[in-house]
This record gives sequence, C-alpha cells and structure tokens, in this order.
Amino acid sequence: ITTKLPKVGTTIFSVMSALAQKHNAINLSQGFPDFPVDKKLTEEVTKAMNSNFNQYAPMAGFMPLREQIAQKTEKIYGISPNPDTEITVLSGASEGIFAAITATVRENDEVIIFEPAYDLYVPAIELQGGIVRYISLSTSSFRPDFEKLKRLISAKTRLIIFNTPHNPTGTTWTNEDLKTLDSLLEGSRILVLSDEVYEHLVFDNQKHQSVLSYPNLRKRSFAVFSFGKTFHATGWKVGYVIAPKELTAELRKIHQYITFSTVTPIQVGLSEFLKNEENYIHLADFYQQKRDYLCKLLAQTNFSFAPTQGTYFQLIDYSKISDQKDTDFAIWLTEKIGVASIPISPFYQNLSNSSAKILRICFAKNNKTLEKAIEKLSRL
Ligand code: PMP
Ligand code: GLN
Repeated sequence: ITTKLPKVGTTIFSVMSALAQKHNAINLSQGFPDFPVDKKLTEEVTKAMNSNFNQYAPMAGFMPLREQIAQKTEKIYGISPNPDTEITVLSGASEGIFAAITATVRENDEVIIFEPAYDLYVPAIELQGGIVRYISLSTSSFRPDFEKLKRLISAKTRLIIFNTPHNPTGTTWTNEDLKTLDSLLEGSRILVLSDEVYEHLVFDNQKHQSVLSYPNLRKRSFAVFSFGKTFHATGWKVGYVIAPKELTAELRKIHQYITFSTVTPIQVGLSEFLKNEENYIHLADFYQQKRDYLCKLLAQTNFSFAPTQGTYFQLIDYSKISDQKDTDFAIWLTEKIGVASIPISPFYQNLSNSSAKILRICFAKNNKTLEKAIEKLSRL
C-alpha cells in the first residue's frame, strides 16, 4: 500500500524498551517510573470501579475531575478555566496534542516547531497536510532563538508548538521567553500548542512558566498536561487540555471521534486525589533529589553533563568514550553494558543538527536502579 507516513517507523521509545527487555538491561530509556503509584490513588480508583463507575464518561471528561483541574490551575497559574467550556480530559497528553493539531492545521498551513522535538508533533502535522518549519535549539544550551522565530513567522503560519520543561533536553522557558513570544505574536492570528506535561518537574527553585499565566498567549493557546507524569502512572494515559472556548469546541469535535471519552474509574479516582494539593506540590523536590543523586553518581564517570533544569531526563555526553553515532552507541550500551538509554537524533528531522554524541537517561527510578546503572556506566 502507499504509506501516508513514509519517514515514520517504530518510535525510539518502543525500540529501546524492547531492546532493554531482550538483553535484560537496566531500562533508563522510555520515560516512566519504576516505583509504584501512591496507594491512596490506586485505592480511589479501585473504589470507583467497585462503585460501578465503569461506563462511558462524558465526552469532555468527568465533571468533578474538570472542576478539580480548574481549582488546581487557579492555585498554580492564577487563572480559573471554565470546566464546562475550556477543559477537556483526553486519553493522555498524546491524544490532546494529536487532537489539537488535527483540529487546527489545514493543508499547506505552516507549523513552527523547535528541534529537537518530541516525536509525535511532526507526523501529526504532516497527516493533516501541514508543512513543518524547524527552528533548531542551540546545540550547547538548547535555548530558543526568538530572532529565528521572528524570521520564520509568515502569513502562512498557523500554529507554533513548544514544550517546556523540554523533552529530551530538560531546558525550561523563562518568564522573559514567554513575554517575548507573547509580543512576537501580538496582532497575529497564530495559534499556540504548549506542551506542559512536565509542569511539576522544574528544579532549583524555578517556577514553571505556563502560557496560561500570560493573558494574550492564553487566548490563542492549547495548553496540554498529563496525569501520567504527575502521578507516576504513565500507563493510565489520562491527560487534559485547557484552551479558550472556541478552540476547545474545535478540539472536542476531533476528540469525540478519536476516542469519544476517556477511562472512567481513573478519572473518578483522580478527581478525589486532586482534592489534596499535598498529593502533587512536592513533586519537584522529590525529583530534584533524584536528579542530584544521579548527578553525584555521574560525576564519577567519563560522561559529561550539565544538571537538567526540568523533566525527569538527564542528557549525558559520551564524546570522551566513543566516536560512534548516538543510535549505534545506545544499542551497544544496551547489549554490551546492560544500560538502555535514548539517543537524541530521533528527536531531529533535520539530521544535520543531530551529530552530537548525547544520550538521554530517565531518572524516574529507585535509587538502587540508578546506582546499578551508573556502576555499569562508570566502567567506560
Ligand atoms: N509530550 C511530551 C513532551 C512527552 O514527553 C510525553 C510523554 N510521554 C507526552 C507528550 C505524552 O504524554 P501522555 O503519556 O500523557 O500521552
Ligand atoms: N514520553 C516518553 C518518553 O519521552 C515516552 C512515551 C512513549 O513511549 N511514547 O520517554
């Protein structure tokens, strides 16, 4: 058959996790925790199942959950989205991103993304006949260059996608960055898709900068979040999108025909669990301790690194160890050393930007797992 996505194969996350399993390697590749979900949360979900919350949820999400999301958003970002018209619960941030792109990008519309980029954006844009325009993040700091952005914006620009805290580099956008974006877009009809799934994972006393806190950005933005990241439950695939009423209406037209609605008992459990902010406000401290511990261990190896600013990913540079390309080195490391990681070249479409000798490792792991992995890496 004629393929619609000729450049697309199996995602690097599936490939590396499968390779880790095959070789019994420590899996620091795909981003997921190896520690359990809070028991209070699993008990809430179990209670919901036993109380017969097992049929279709409302298309836009279980209302008490949307109400809790509105309250959490107000506490953190100072705005209170309308649960009825501005909040939609979907099957993971992935569905949110796919539905937002599908709802807005038309044939030949241009979409600007920052590279390296999470691998779902480009195929979703291209499936709609959209044209991707790339901005490379600087290779040393991975910071955005707003002069480049200004030059790329044209009458054809429909959507700008960005991600902070950023997968795979861990960089975070500052208050200045958001303000600059805001003023660049002033007077235009360009929409924004802001991937904020790691909103709670920012370190060193930074504050996550959400588009929701900037009134003019908020008017044009889909802001995407994920409970998988926040509650150590990536397999549950529940996320949400906050967007103004008109954008939400378009988003829901797509969501209702992708999945229609999202898993009910988990939404019910989450709506109870979210009532207590203690259940999520300490997440940054929890992960910062892991980051610091990982960096202390890594300092004894021949990998170079700068401590990540956000997410649960740390980049490590292996140029002192090997000349191999990143995908080859990541495979070798899994098969021969027993540690699986993610090469960063698959986050680039524009391959000339991806010659760096860098891997991404996930530190959402028990300290014992990190110790065992770094002990292996320290032999190199
Ligand atoms: N965006 C980014 C940047 C991610 O890292 C992920 C991760 N898994 C997603 C979106 C998708 O999130 P979910 O698992 O909730 O679909
Ligand atoms: N977001 C996760 C990561 O970056 C993986 C999600 C997936 O496997 N699609 O590792």
